[in-house]
Amino acid sequence: MPAEEATPAIVLRTRDYLESDRIVTLLTEQAGKLGGIAKGAKASRRRFEHRLELFSHVMLYFRRRPHGQLVFITRAEAAGLKPFCLEDDLGRFALGTYMLELAEALTSEDAEAAGAYHLLVEALGALGAGQANAALRQAYELRMFRWAGFGMQFDRCRICAQSQAGAAAVYFIIGRGGIVCARCRERTPEGGIRLGAASGAALAQLGRLPLEAASAAPAAGPDGALAIARFVASVVDRKLRSVEFLDSVIAPA
Ligand SMILES: [Zn+2]
Repeated sequence: MPAEEATPAIVLRTRDYLESDRIVTLLTEQAGKLGGIAKGAKASRRRFEHRLELFSHVMLYFRRRPHGQLVFITRAEAAGLKPFCLEDDLGRFALGTYMLELAEALTSEDAEAAGAYHLLVEALGALGAGQANAALRQAYELRMFRWAGFGMQFDRCRICAQSQAGAAAVYFIIGRGGIVCARCRERTPEGGIRLGAASGAALAQLGRLPLEAASAAPAAGPDGALAIARFVASVVDRKLRSVEFLDSVIAPA
């Protein structure tokens, strides 16, 4: 039998299976994204104590199986890991659900994802302690995409590298993952999404701030939100189910 492994993990998604089992997708610190089955999860309080719910932050004990994708989850314990309390507030629940879904979409099984795990811990902690708003959403999007290798740039023109601080407008080009200045735009075929000065500056700042400070910072307006949404759609190969609900709960700045 394969050895039991243990790692801190956050539950991204769950579904019940048969009468008493549960299938769980988790983002772990040491084993990347994992899908697992918890046999008897609904009946065994001793081994699971309701610790395999959405947002649960647990020490996960599991065994790999020689065949098949799902690992066997043997136990889940609190182990002093920071709990995330998001379910008593609709805005926090909506943004938290989106954070989980984006983390799931940008990670893959059998690939290292410790950075994404730590970023999700930081984001859900900031969400539990602060306000669920557009600024925190945008800061998380920028940071999670940067972790995944898709850093977006909002302070300098992607072509001439001139700082755009103070520029009246810049143009976000999806294929370049960043902005170009008004002058360079004339030489780019893609056109781009026009960002007003305030939105460009907000996104440049949100990409640098620690997430715990993000909800108090200015958010980009609808032009910036559109630029990020188009970029997300160009990278993520599926429709994120939580977006529509989130957009209905948290209005763009
Ligand atoms: Zn330029």
